Amino acid sequence: MKILKFGGTSVATAEAIRATQAIVSSTPGPVAVVVSALGGITDLLLEMASKAASQDPGYVQVLQDIEKRHLDCIRQLIPPSEQSAVIGKVKTDLNVLETLAEGAFLIGETTPKLLDKMVSFGELLSSFIIAAYYRSSGLDSRFKDSRELITTDDAFGGARVQRDKTAKSVIEYFKEPSLITVLPGFIAASENGETTTLGRGGSDYSAALFAAALLAEELEIWTDVSGMYTANPKIVKQARPIKDISYEEAMELSHFGAKVLYPPTIQPVLEVGIPIVIRNTFEPEAAGTRIHQEGNPGGRTVRGISHVPDIALLTLEGPGMIGVPGISKRLFETLSQVGISIVFITQASSEHSICLGIASAYAPLAEKTVNEAFDFEISKGKIKPVAMESGLAIIALVGDQMKQHQGLSGKMFSTLGKNNVNIRAIAQGASERNISAVIRKEDVKKALNSLHEAFFEARVKQLNIFIMGVGNVGSRLLEQIRKQQKVLKSTLGLHLRIVGIANSKRMHFDAHGLDIENWSDLLQQGETSDLKSFFEKVKKLNLRNSIFIDNTANAAVASSYGAYLKESIAVITCNKIACSDRYNTYASLKQLSRTYAAPFLFETNVGAGLPIIDTLKNLVLSGDRILKIRAVLSGSLNFIFNNYRAEAPFHEVVQQAQQEGYTEPDPRIDLSGVDVMRKILILARESGHALEMEDITNNAFLPPSCQEASDVASFYKELQAHSEHFEKLYKEASEKSCRLKYVAKFDQGKAAVGLEEIPEGHDFYHLSGSDNIVLFYTERYREQPLIVKGAGAGAEVTASGIFADIIRSGNF
Ligand code: ADP
Ligand code: ASP
Ligand code: MG
Repeated sequence: MKILKFGGTSVATAEAIRATQAIVSSTPGPVAVVVSALGGITDLLLEMASKAASQDPGYVQVLQDIEKRHLDCIRQLIPPSEQSAVIGKVKTDLNVLETLAEGAFLIGETTPKLLDKMVSFGELLSSFIIAAYYRSSGLDSRFKDSRELITTDDAFGGARVQRDKTAKSVIEYFKEPSLITVLPGFIAASENGETTTLGRGGSDYSAALFAAALLAEELEIWTDVSGMYTANPKIVKQARPIKDISYEEAMELSHFGAKVLYPPTIQPVLEVGIPIVIRNTFEPEAAGTRIHQEGNPGGRTVRGISHVPDIALLTLEGPGMIGVPGISKRLFETLSQVGISIVFITQASSEHSICLGIASAYAPLAEKTVNEAFDFEISKGKIKPVAMESGLAIIALVGDQMKQHQGLSGKMFSTLGKNNVNIRAIAQGASERNISAVIRKEDVKKALNSLHEAFFEARVKQLNIFIMGVGNVGSRLLEQIRKQQKVLKSTLGLHLRIVGIANSKRMHFDAHGLDIENWSDLLQQGETSDLKSFFEKVKKLNLRNSIFIDNTANAAVASSYGAYLKESIAVITCNKIACSDRYNTYASLKQLSRTYAAPFLFETNVGAGLPIIDTLKNLVLSGDRILKIRAVLSGSLNFIFNNYRAEAPFHEVVQQAQQEGYTEPDPRIDLSGVDVMRKILILARESGHALEMEDITNNAFLPPSCQEASDVASFYKELQAHSEHFEKLYKEASEKSCRLKYVAKFDQGKAAVGLEEIPEGHDFYHLSGSDNIVLFYTERYREQPLIVKGAGAGAEVTASGIFADIIRSGNF
C-alpha cells in the first residue's frame, strides 16, 4: 500500500487536480490519497472567521469567494450529468459553514473550537470533490472522513494525536479493501467527537499517521517543487533538490522553516522505517527527495539551509539571575502556559541573561506574561523588564555530519560578516546537527544566498557590480565584462553581474543583472540620478558581494566611498581624489575596508592597468622595505614629450593628447604636475609613509602664467604664447642627446616631481608612447630595481585595470 498526499498547491485548480488524477491512476494500488484544502482556502477560511469575529460584514464576501472556488472546480472537473449530486452536498456543507460564521459574527468572537470547525471545511470539501471527480473519471475511489479515523485530545488548533487508538481505527477501516481511498488531511476529532485540526501544514502529518498505521511501503508527499531543496527554491535560485536525506536532517530542516514538510510528519514513519518521498505534481518525472534511514550517503556535511521568518528575541537579564536556580524553568513554564513555543535558546555562561526566539506574533503576549511572572524580581531591581526585539529571522545550517567537521560555523559567520549581515544571537543544537543564527528579516534573502553560495556552489561566486560613470573608461569596462563573462564563470567560478549603472544624469538598476548589450538604451530610459539615491538603491538591494565602481574624476563621488565600505560594499576606483586627499581620509578608508571586510582597490590610480600598486603591496606584505622609487608616471606627459619635436608648436601636441584620451579631462592637472604628484603620493603612502601633497616638491616646467590660467581655453592660449619656452626646453635637451621625461622620485621619505633631461642608456630613455615605468629599489632589490613598465594611460588599459581589481575583489 502507498499513501499519496497532495498539498494545497497540488489541488489549487481544476487543472492541478487533473494532474493528481494522472498520478494516482498510474500508481499501482491500493492507495490512500490524502488531500489538503484547495490552495489558499485555509487562509480564506481564517480570514472569514476573523472578519466575522470582529463583526466585519465583509466576511460574507469571503464566504462567497470560498463557495465560488469550489463550485467552479466542480463544474470544470465533473460531467454535467453528475454535477448536481456533488454540488448539492457541497452547498449543504457551505450552509453549515455560513451558520457557524454568522454565529461568530453575532457574538463577535470565535473560540479555538469554533475556528477548527470552520477551518475543517477546507479539507472536507476538497476531499469530497476530488473523490467524486476520480470516480467520474473512471477510478475506483471512495471517500472517507478522517475525523472517523484520527483521534486527538481537545487542544484545538494543534491537537495531539492518540496514536494507538488512531492506528486501530485506521487498520480496521482499511481491512475492507478498495483500490483508492480519498481522505481529508489536517482534520481529526477529539474523543467527544469534536472536530480538531493538527496545526497549519498538518495534512502531511495526517498522511504520515495513515502510512505508519498501515505499514505502507512508502509515503509520497506531492507538492509544487521537485523535492526538499538545499534551500527554499523560491528565495535561492541556485538551490537544488537533495536526492537522499536522513529523517533527522529532514526534521531539522523542516523545523527551521523548510515548509515543504510539516515537522511532526517524520516521527510516525521514522518509528517504523517507512521512507518519505517528496515529489512535484507538476513535474512527476523528477526523482524528488527520498527521506530514509540511510539518508546521508557519503556523510556529507551541510545538507541544507533554512530559515524561520518573523522571529522576536526575548531577553531576560539582571544580576538577580546569577546562580539562582529555577529562573529558566519559570520562564519556560510561563511561556508554555500561554501556549507560546520557543524556537531558539541561548544563555550566556555567566547566567546573566537568557535569550529566547519566539514567533513574532506572540511578542506582545510573551512580554506581558513574562513581566507579570517576574513582577517581584523586577520591582526589586534584580531582573530587568523583558527586552523584546522584533523584525528578526532565524537562519540555520543543517547536516548530520556537521559535528565531525571543524570550521563550519567559522565559515558561516565569516560569510555573513563579509556580506554585512549582522548576527544578533547564535545557537548550536546539542545534536550539533544545526547551527542557527538570528539576523534581521531584511537580510534573509542575502544571507541564504551567500551561505548557499559558500556551502553549495563553491565553484561559483556571484559579484554584483554597480558602476558610476560610463564614459570612456566605463563603457570599455562594460564591453570587456560582456566579452569575458562566460570565460570567468567557467574558469574562475566568478559570475559577474552588472546590477546598476549611472552617469551624472541617469541611473538604471536591474536586481537580476542587466543586459550589458543594451546598457546605453537602458540608461537613457533610466530614472534621474544623484549620488545619494544611487547609494540608497545599492544599499536597499542588499545583494551579496556588492561592488561599487567609480569611473569618474569627481570629488563628490570620491567622498562617498566611506558610506559604501560601511555597508561592506567593495569600492574599486580609478579616481585618484580619495587616495591623494588628506592622509587621514586615505587612512580611514583603508581602515573601513579592514573593519567591514570590504575590498578598497585603486590599482588604476597609478599607471592605469599596470600592476604597480599590487606589486608594491605584495612587496610590503611579504616583509620587504621600499628604499626608493624612480618613475615616469604620466602617460599623458610622456605622450606629449615623445611627440614634441619642436616642429609643431607645443600646445598642438597637448591638444592631440587630450583628443586621444591620454590626458585627464582637464589637461592642466597633467601639465602642472599635480597628477604625477598624486601618483607618487599614493605610492609613498602604500610604502608606509604618511605623506601629504604639500610635502612633495614640484619642479614645475610651465611658465607661471600657464600655471595660473583660469580655464582650459585660456590655458591653451598661454601655452601658445609661450611656444618659445617649450622649444628652448626641447632644444637644450637634444643638444646634450637627452630626452625630456617627467620624473617622479621618492627617496628617504621625501618625494619630488619635475621635468628631467634623460641621457641615452638610462632606463627611461627609450620609453615610448604613453608608457609608464616604475623602478622599485627595496631591501631585496637593492642594486637591480624591480621594474614595472608598459602602457600607462588610455581608456582601454584603465578599464582592464579596473577589471583586474574586480577579479581581485572576487578572490578576497
Ligand atoms: P503544499 O501546499 O504542497 O503543502 P507548501 O507550500 O506547504 O506546499 O510547501 C512547499 C513549499 O515549501 C515550496 O513551494 C517552497 O516554497 C517551500 N520551501 C521552503 N523551504 C524549502 C526547501 N528547503 N525545499 C523545498 N521547498 C521549500
Ligand atoms: N490546509 C491546511 C493549511 O493550509 C493544512 C495543509 O495544507 O497541510 O495549513
Ligand atoms: Mg504543506
